[in-house]
Formats: sequence, structure tokens, C-alpha cells
Amino acid sequence: MYHTATLPARLHSVILNFLQMKAFLKFSLLTVLFAMACHDDAHHDHDLQAEIHHEEVIEFQGSPQALQKLTTPVSLSVNNSRSAGQNVAVYMAEYIYGPGSSEAGSTVFFSDRGNKQLTADFVPGQSLDGSDAISYYVDDTRPPSSISAGDSEAAIDASMDTWEGVACSDLGMTKIPSDGRANGFIAALFGFPNGSFGYNGDVTHNGYLPGPFFSIVLGSSNILAVTFTIIFIDENGDPADEDGDGKTDVAFREIYYNDAYAWSNDGSGIDLETVSLHEAGHGLSQAHFGKVHATDNGKVHFSPRAVMNAGYSGINRVIKGTDKGGHCSNWGNWPNN
Ligand SMILES: [Zn+2]
Repeated sequence: MYHTATLPARLHSVILNFLQMKAFLKFSLLTVLFAMACHDDAHHDHDLQAEIHHEEVIEFQGSPQALQKLTTPVSLSVNNSRSAGQNVAVYMAEYIYGPGSSEAGSTVFFSDRGNKQLTADFVPGQSLDGSDAISYYVDDTRPPSSISAGDSEAAIDASMDTWEGVACSDLGMTKIPSDGRANGFIAALFGFPNGSFGYNGDVTHNGYLPGPFFSIVLGSSNILAVTFTIIFIDENGDPADEDGDGKTDVAFREIYYNDAYAWSNDGSGIDLETVSLHEAGHGLSQAHFGKVHATDNGKVHFSPRAVMNAGYSGINRVIKGTDKGGHCSNWGNWPNN
């Protein structure tokens, strides 16, 4: 086994000092307050009450070699004029364990680059596609084993449409047609086939990779799916915050699915649209939300139930109140934030 620790059923996260990769600093407990403001233009404006988001910090479970790869800045391939000379680095990986895993709950990996920022966000005017509309791309070179490629893409499209349909925001969601291109910054970083250091969209669904990808990159093969946040690095080698909003500037996000799981859209396995909706939530800057409760039979429950709960608990394809609050606080004023 990759590790023996049974993690408590709570939200977990790792904060790693980027400049001291040899030392995996262990912090006791981190409490992050998320003020969730909701601007619902469909009916009336209202604010959700501030919610408390607990994150227990644990050690990164991947190897030191993986950590070094994840945290070393890379110069993007020049596949359009805006990506020329752009340095980027992995900032965060948010993932959920599969059902039945002893590793209940979730883990968040943060590359703490010294500025203590725990959030990252897209910035108007900075997108490498030259548009404030949010673009997405669905890989067609790493198909799933358990369902058809067409069913997979349809479920992913549906999940993106669900986020686009939240009334408070105007993302101008644009799908870039799949054309067999190489894609996948993380895939490239770890030498998996058909990876690329080029920019392919603001949010990319990079297809299905086998369990070892998750073991090698994150230290566990029991991960359903993962979203990586790749940020801009400035000329000093620091995380960029061009708009000074206290959030690190996102270059793009990547989502990978674990091909070892039986994905489905008919309720027979892991519901792809449910997981895609969750990961796309991360893709659109949402963090995990909700308290996690473990029961004696090892099942995990969340309150309140939300798409952004830190674990899979069955089909959940509908945006809940807290999901909407988080989304609207991020995107309600876009592109004027
Ligand atoms: Zn997640």
C-alpha cells in the first residue's frame, strides 16, 4: 500500500513550503473562513451566512520527486501569442477519494509559495485565450474504459452547462472543439502520453488515466478525480497577483479522471456528471464545502449536502444553495471584479 495512515473523515489539506521542499512542515489546524455572498439576480439578492470551513493539515502523501515536479515553474509552450514567455506552476490539487476507501474525506495539496494565499482565481483580461469568456476543452485522446467516449463528453458538457446556467453569473462559457491535440500539463510533467505544456482552455478535462497516475502524482490510487490549479509566476519567480485582489492568478485548471473506476451515467457506477460537476466547480475556483461526518459503518455524510462536498456520496447533479453562494461570490460581478 502507498501509505498506512487511516485519515479521519474530515477535510484534509497539505500546506507545503515551496522553498523548503525537503521539510514537510506540519501545521496543527487551519481554519479558513469563507464569507459566502450570493447575488441572485433571478429573484432577489441575499447573503448566505458566513460558513466555517475547517481544513486539517496533513503531510503530502506523494513522493519528494513528485512534489518537486509539481512545484517547479515551467515556461509554457508558445501555442499562441499570449502564452509566449509565460511561466506557470502547479499551485493546488483538490481531489476526492473513491467510496470504500479508508481514506475518507478529501485532501487538498497547496504549494505554499510564501505568500500564504490559499485561494487562486481567474483574472479578467489575463486569459491566454484572449477573452474574458470562460473556455473549456474536453480531451478526446484519453477515453474512459467503462463508458463510451460520447457518453463521457455528454456528461462533462452537461456539468459545464449547469455551472454556466447559474443565474448570478455570465461566464460566456465557450467549448473549444476537441481535435485530438496533445493536452495535459500534469500529464506532460509526469511523462504520461500526449501531454503538453501548451494552453488549451481555461478549464480542461484531460481525460482518463490509470490508477498509477494518481499514485505517482498524489500518492494514492484511490482518488476518483483531481483538479489542478496552474498559476502564473511573475518575473521574480513569485505567484502573480496582477489585480491585487489577494488571490493568486490562475492560468488554467486541469481535471483528470481515474480510469480504474466504473464510471456511468445510469446510476450503475460512479456517476460521471456528479463528479464532473464537482471538479468543474474547482475548475471555476470553488473550494470544498460542508462538514464531514463519518458513521460507524464507515460511510461518510456531509452537511449541508452540496456539489462541493469533499467526497462522493451518490448522484448529485444539481447546484445546491451553498454551491450557488460560492459560485456567485466568485463570478457574480465577472468580468468586473
Ligand atoms: Zn473536490
